[in-house]
Amino acid sequence: MFINGEWTAAVSGKEFEVTDPATGDVIGTMPDGSTADAEQAVEAAAAAFGSWSSTTAHHRADLLYKAWQLMTERAEDLAQLMTREQGKPLKASRAEVKYASDFLRYYAEEATRVRGEWLPSARPDQRFLSLRQPVGVVAAVTPWNYPISMLTRKMGPALAAGCTIVLKPAEATPLCAKAVYQVFIDAGVPGGVINMVTALDPKPIGEVFTSHPKVRKLTFTGSTAVGKKLAGAAAANLKRVSVELGGHAPFIVFPDADPVRAAKGAAALKFLNSGQACISPNRMYVHEDAAEAFVDTMTERVGRVKAGNGFDDGVGVGPLVNEAAVAKVAAQVDDAVAKGATAAVGGARLTEAPFDAGHFFAPTLLTGVDDSMTIYREETFGPVAPVITYSDVDQVLELANDTNYGLAAYVYSQNISTAMRAFEGLRFGIIGINDVNPTSAGAPFGGMGDSGLGREGGSEGIAEYLETKLGGFAL
Ligand code: NAD
Repeated sequence: MFINGEWTAAVSGKEFEVTDPATGDVIGTMPDGSTADAEQAVEAAAAAFGSWSSTTAHHRADLLYKAWQLMTERAEDLAQLMTREQGKPLKASRAEVKYASDFLRYYAEEATRVRGEWLPSARPDQRFLSLRQPVGVVAAVTPWNYPISMLTRKMGPALAAGCTIVLKPAEATPLCAKAVYQVFIDAGVPGGVINMVTALDPKPIGEVFTSHPKVRKLTFTGSTAVGKKLAGAAAANLKRVSVELGGHAPFIVFPDADPVRAAKGAAALKFLNSGQACISPNRMYVHEDAAEAFVDTMTERVGRVKAGNGFDDGVGVGPLVNEAAVAKVAAQVDDAVAKGATAAVGGARLTEAPFDAGHFFAPTLLTGVDDSMTIYREETFGPVAPVITYSDVDQVLELANDTNYGLAAYVYSQNISTAMRAFEGLRFGIIGINDVNPTSAGAPFGGMGDSGLGREGGSEGIAEYLETKLGGFAL
């Protein structure tokens, strides 16, 4: 763990093992922290806040630029570590490190753009001035699926704003978090400003984060169930909260789309991170006129996706995070097939050597999916593409919006009016129009409904770490 500028063991002296999900091999150990460790980390962050928040925005920007440079120099080592610890194909790990470093550069720039306002008063002898200041100590909880970029997406803007941080990374990927911390440390971020507590059981840490009076803000990325619990507990103590949660993204192919281009996009997007992405398409609504061409192209593309160890050449799908994840995907696929869906490609876990030591599910294309099936409503965190054929164009936005989630949605159409109506009518935070990668460090990312509160990235991303203060000056 990293507390007050020192790498430390847990107060209890306990440790936990970190494993490679492709092989089951133990690849490291980390301190197994608990309440006392989290409290120490919060105290360190609180003690550092005064001096850190008094530094100039230019100074903080310089440190973030330096961190960006170091992360760029170490990109290959970080990518190798990520594939080892998280399992994603090396090419995907390299792309994630690049995405992660983008947040450092973007928020280095954004640090110097935090401004106040001069506001008009109705009184001739009065002037109003608004000022934006850092919220204080930020407690951050991050997931395993994007184990480096989810850290920089929070730490970049928090540090730029002048906040100090206590992070609890996911128990499956603490080695990536440690490597990110080393980047910040080597860039010269002072002791106490960034702290990290690792733990096998996240609950006691979450309790400190949501109840400690010196924590002013909670930022969480993970599942909706945990996010609701933590947001509720933090809100009860009136802490600022942002939560980026699960999703159930619709992917709509209109009859005026190019179905082959849509299928190529769907196949590329669906298997990113083995389908373990919050913005992964989970319901592919394909108009009946486009269905044959779409399914033919998908069948060919999905059939070509190779599962395996992320270090092997040509692998498009790595292992899932653990056995429970494979069991959940298998249950969803079995339920769909039992209720009439067809596994056009794949459809089962991979159990033969060399897959037997890891947690693998075959890249899968399901056709004939309908709303009676669990997969239609439950987040699918695995490499399964479910296709639903529809006939009524006027009804499809309603079908797509019929979910409690509201993170990402995708639309394929060659008609500007169809695309614009869908863009305006879909109740989701991020819409890809003929585009499967609608994300960038400079753009707001976040969801509606059960997908969360707040935005990360862009100018919205730094606003989450700032308070507005009003000054009324009588002359
Ligand atoms: P998870 O909620 O189980 O875990 C996320 C983090 O929360 C981990 O660090 C975990 O240790 C911690 N945690 C779990 N229970 C806790 C508790 N009681 N108190 C404090 N911390 C606790 O989710 P996961 O399975 O690791 O991640 C997958 C989920 O994250 C998916 O639902 C996915 O859609 C979502 N996700 C969302 C985004 C986004 O930006 N919206 C990005 C990535 C992942």
